[in-house]
Amino acid sequence: MKGYFMEPQNMSVNDGNGIRTLIFMAGCPLRCQWCSNPESQGSPANSRGRGSLVREYWLDEIMEIIERQRIFYRFSGGGVTFSGGEATMQLEILDEMSMLLYDKAIDMAIETCGYFDFQAVKRVMDRMSLIFIDLKLFNGQAHRKFTGMDNALILENIRKFGEMDYQIVIRIPLIEGVNTDQENISHTADFISKHIKKPKVELLPYHSFGDEKYRDLQLELPSREFKAPDKSSINEIRKIFKSKGIEVVKY
Ligand code: SF4
Repeated sequence: MKGYFMEPQNMSVNDGNGIRTLIFMAGCPLRCQWCSNPESQGSPANSRGRGSLVREYWLDEIMEIIERQRIFYRFSGGGVTFSGGEATMQLEILDEMSMLLYDKAIDMAIETCGYFDFQAVKRVMDRMSLIFIDLKLFNGQAHRKFTGMDNALILENIRKFGEMDYQIVIRIPLIEGVNTDQENISHTADFISKHIKKPKVELLPYHSFGDEKYRDLQLELPSREFKAPDKSSINEIRKIFKSKGIEVVKY
């Protein structure tokens, strides 16, 4: 079995517990204007980075990369985190990989944009010990403007994760002038505290680490348009979440 991947990254410590291997899967239904992985956008087989930053890998190749890191997982309490793009866009190979890793008792987490058919991906999510799910903007129109898609399905999926008590962390990229206003943060916080029993958010200020990929792909740089809020705004945002009983976590 083959799939479309960017280069896996070993020794990550920011996307789950312990030392992890990040498996970046190509394809994403969204097109966020600030995306730091633009090569993943589009369909898996025809993503923007196909042929340069994205290539086909055999399932065995990916499993070998993971196997070689096993000792680090064992001593750090780490494992594998599926990322992208949106990993659920290649559901067949994701299902197969996660089943093999589950059988080997390798810990798994996933980062998702939340834009998926819940029933279709449920069996994969059931194998994850932690699910990072993005909530970029609460207002549907603004979400569509900046990401190309409405957020109704994403909100519905967060609600379902909450109902079924999955271990989730809501990730919010903070981009000044896009989603850092009090109205967006308050509505987001209200929604999260209403639907998740022990709510956790991780705040991720915008960064320009993806600029080099934009240059490689000859695309306009998002960092010309977007920037992170300053420290005092981030503190205010943190306070709003905490005031609604939401834990602000950092991986
Ligand atoms: S969901 Fe993530 S990978 Fe997809 S376009 Fe947005 S930032 Fe990029």
